[in-house]
Amino acid sequence: MADDAGHRPTGKDGGVVQNKQSETAIQTRLKDGSLKLYELEKEVPAVDAIRIRREFIECETGAKLYNLGIFSIDVERVVKRNCENMIGTVQVPVGIAGPLQVNGEFAAGSYYLPLATTEGALVASVNRGCSAITRAGGAEVRILHDGMTRAPVFAARSIVHAKQMVDWVTGHIAELRTAAESTTSHGKLIDISPFVAGTSVFFRMNFDTKDAMGMNMVTIASAKAAELIAQETGARLVALSGNMCTDKKPAAINGIMGRGRSVVAGVALSHDLISQVFKTDATTLFEVNYRKNLVGSARAGAMGFNAHAANVVAAIFIACGQDAAHSIDGSTCLTTVDPSPTGAYASVTLPSLPVGTVGGGTGIETQQECLNLLGVAGGGTPPGTNAKRLAEIIAAGVLAGELSLLGALAAQHLARAHQQLGRG
Ligand code: NAP
Repeated sequence: MADDAGHRPTGKDGGVVQNKQSETAIQTRLKDGSLKLYELEKEVPAVDAIRIRREFIECETGAKLYNLGIFSIDVERVVKRNCENMIGTVQVPVGIAGPLQVNGEFAAGSYYLPLATTEGALVASVNRGCSAITRAGGAEVRILHDGMTRAPVFAARSIVHAKQMVDWVTGHIAELRTAAESTTSHGKLIDISPFVAGTSVFFRMNFDTKDAMGMNMVTIASAKAAELIAQETGARLVALSGNMCTDKKPAAINGIMGRGRSVVAGVALSHDLISQVFKTDATTLFEVNYRKNLVGSARAGAMGFNAHAANVVAAIFIACGQDAAHSIDGSTCLTTVDPSPTGAYASVTLPSLPVGTVGGGTGIETQQECLNLLGVAGGGTPPGTNAKRLAEIIAAGVLAGELSLLGALAAQHLARAHQQLGRG
């Protein structure tokens, strides 16, 4: 039965009734291989394709998949844009942390953070950090760099040819910009950084992607520019992505040069606040951060120097329709705690936060509701401001998570909180 908004659960009990004869014929064709599972949408509407595919998989595996079939999202759009061979959805609990006062250049106000997670104690912990930051007057947040990158790799004939390629590209940025920007009405080529390794030549193309996270946009635009480079230099384009981008791998280049939105957030905490909220003191907070986040991470050879930044990044990313694989970028966050006469100044630096409020998974109804909750759904006015606002809110949320965990460790409360909140 559909609800007031017309949403229809699509589990077995509520599914759209099919013409049984044609459905049996489809199942037979699936079984004999004359119809592929991925071809189902060509035969029936997406909602039926998903159900038939799920039933086929149930039959093949003997697994019961009833709950995967219960959802309210517009699957006609999702199967075209977000997920092939769809059989249903996984429900991830969403908790709220906040209010969190954010004093950014784009996000200025009080926000409730939607956190999609199955880690007990995470939401409660972030909530405590939000409370501390808000009581302190809010998190200051600034965006230091904004640009999404794609770096094609070319094969040069020799190292002399490699240098000639670099010279050609640096002398023809205007033509490359025209070629790249011919594919998009929003993307703007900012610059191109060349890197040479023997006969392998990489051009890291950096774009302003406005409100889009931009990976598709930038890939398509880079393809046009790469085509021109190959044509003009005689080099062979080996791969449109040469891993100097660097996408979905922890990489020093993203930390140094930035990728996506590079954001920094900070807050001054008084001695009283540290004592009241975290049940510790500034000196202990500083020492935990120094020995754990800085010395411990250095000794471990970690790419990030933080307590659990990826936890907050992943939870907001999943809730808000961001590409969850990019939560790896959150793990490269650097957390600092500076002691001060009045208490401590804590900060997080997130050099690589690929976020968007249009495109990707941001249009899926549940994810869009979470973006709406933050007031950042869709394109901003002017374009780019909504994505920047989201980046600032996430950075403030990461700061809340860092402070809370550092506080729990400083007060020796971590195991107790997990025992109380994270165990069944
Ligand atoms: P997208 O879903 O491809 O759509 C973004 C498009 O929205 C832009 O290209 C732009 O069209 C349009 N747009 C409308 N209003 C806009 C505004 N205010 N600001 C910016 N653009 C606006 O999204 P994407 O961000 O480029 O890519 C994200 C997707 O890429 C995710 O699903 C992610 O999983 C996936 N991804 C792709 C790759 C890859 O290599 N292709 C790698 C990793 C992830 P115009 O360009 O026509 O202006």
